[in-house]
Amino acid sequence: MRIVLLGAPGSGKGTQAKKLMADKNIPQISTGDMLREAVAAGTRFGLKAQSVMEAGNLVPDEVVLGIISERLSQPDAADGFILDGFPRTKQQALDLDELLDQLGTPLDTAVLMDVDFDILMKRLTGRRTCSLTGKLLNVYFSSQEELDECTSAGGELIQREDDNEETISNRLNVYRENTEPLIVFYEKREKLTRIDAEGSIDEVYDRLVSAL
Ligand code: AMP
Repeated sequence: MRIVLLGAPGSGKGTQAKKLMADKNIPQISTGDMLREAVAAGTRFGLKAQSVMEAGNLVPDEVVLGIISERLSQPDAADGFILDGFPRTKQQALDLDELLDQLGTPLDTAVLMDVDFDILMKRLTGRRTCSLTGKLLNVYFSSQEELDECTSAGGELIQREDDNEETISNRLNVYRENTEPLIVFYEKREKLTRIDAEGSIDEVYDRLVSAL
C-alpha cells in the first residue's frame, strides 16, 4: 500500500498514519517529524529549517525532496509507505510522481482528510504530547483520565513550538494557498479518496481503512 495522506494541519494525518503503520506494518514517513528531528539534533540544516518551521512557513521544495528521496529508498519502504505531510506543494507532488516512476512503485491513492475549520483550530491549539510516553493528547478532546495519566506519572503536557495561535493561522493560510490545489491535482489523476475526518480517532480510522 503506497498512500499519501492529504489534509490541513490538525486534520489527524499523523495520528491516523501511526495507527495504520502499526496495523499494516508499513512505515509512516512524516517530513514534519524528520525536520523536527534535524532541528532537535542541532544540525546546520536543522538550524536553517527551525525559523521557517516556527513561523509556519514551508521549507524549500528541494530540501524536502532530498529528505524524501533518501527515505523512500530505504528497504522498509519497499513494500509500501504512508506519506504524512508530503507533498505540500504542486512541485513536490510532481517530484514525487517522478521519484516513484523511477522506483517503479506508483502511488495507490491520496486520501484527503476532510475536517471543518473550527475543529481544526481546537485540534491544533489543544494538541499536547506527553513528555514521558510521547502519546498525543488534546486538552479539548482527551478524557481527563488520559491527561492525568501523563501528569500523575510525572510527565508534562508539551505543546509543539508551532502550535501557537499566530503560527497556526499562518500554517492554515499556507495550506490553503500551496497544498489545497493538490486536491484537484490528484482528482485529475483519479487518485483522490475523500474521507470524513471528524469524530473520534477510531471512527476516522474505520473510515480510512474501509476507503482503502
Ligand atoms: P507537520 O508536522 O507536517 O505539520 O510539519 C511541520 C512543519 O514542517 C511545517 O509547518 C513546515 O514548516 C515543515 N514541513 C513539513 N513537511 C513539509 C513539506 N512537505 N514541505 C515543506 N515544509 C514542510
